[in-house]
Amino acid sequence: MRPVRRNSSPISGDYSDYKKAKTDLISRIGSGWCHDIHLASYCNYCERPISTLLAVEHIEPKDGPHGRPHLIGRWDNFLVACPNCNSTKKDKLVNFKDLYFPDRDNTFHAFRYLADGNIEPMNAGDQIAEDTLRLTGLDKAMRQTQDVAGRLIAEERASQRMEIWKLAELGLKDFHSDPTNNVVKDSIVNNAVLSGFFSVWMTVFCDVPEMMNRFIDAFSGTRESECFDFQAAAISPAPNPDNLRAGGKI
Ligand SMILES: [Zn+2]
Repeated sequence: MRPVRRNSSPISGDYSDYKKAKTDLISRIGSGWCHDIHLASYCNYCERPISTLLAVEHIEPKDGPHGRPHLIGRWDNFLVACPNCNSTKKDKLVNFKDLYFPDRDNTFHAFRYLADGNIEPMNAGDQIAEDTLRLTGLDKAMRQTQDVAGRLIAEERASQRMEIWKLAELGLKDFHSDPTNNVVKDSIVNNAVLSGFFSVWMTVFCDVPEMMNRFIDAFSGTRESECFDFQAAAISPAPNPDNLRAGGKI
């Protein structure tokens, strides 16, 4: 879960139609760029690139038993999410002190990404991390779907993370084969931006701060979160520059 900062609202007051916030949200916290070319848009929870079905996600639900209808147009209550994360989270109760969110905590520091596509809490026994994974279904195990030739077909988030891990490993191999070649570095960043899953790329390149910094700059809102230092190491707790309620838990 990539930490982001959406910054202050681009309009004064609340949105009368929350869907109109979508473009600004994608631009600030849900985009991947290369040389000012927009290459992809991402879900703020699972980090997948989603080309057309991203929705404005209400962090505190807009309706249902825990609904907060007065927050329906509130900029601070928006993220962008894919259909899977959105429909799993649905209208569940959100207590900020009991969950991590990418706009207020250093969510990169909260989770460990594994080569098999699974995500686990960085610190064993971190109940908040476990509950956060459950909130959007990021704790779901991979379903093995294969074609007639026995090749894995990545139809869901965990297997897609595993695929992108392999792609990132190929990129790391290319980097080490020619570590001063800027064309290779640009190509790796392009691949990361096009394929999404920021945290997977950051994990595979964990010993290459130069490339980690390039990823941080290519995914919108990440540098602005102030959750990484100049060596690309995670700063924890998150500085929470907008003083969001119950932010900076990790
Ligand atoms: Zn998602």
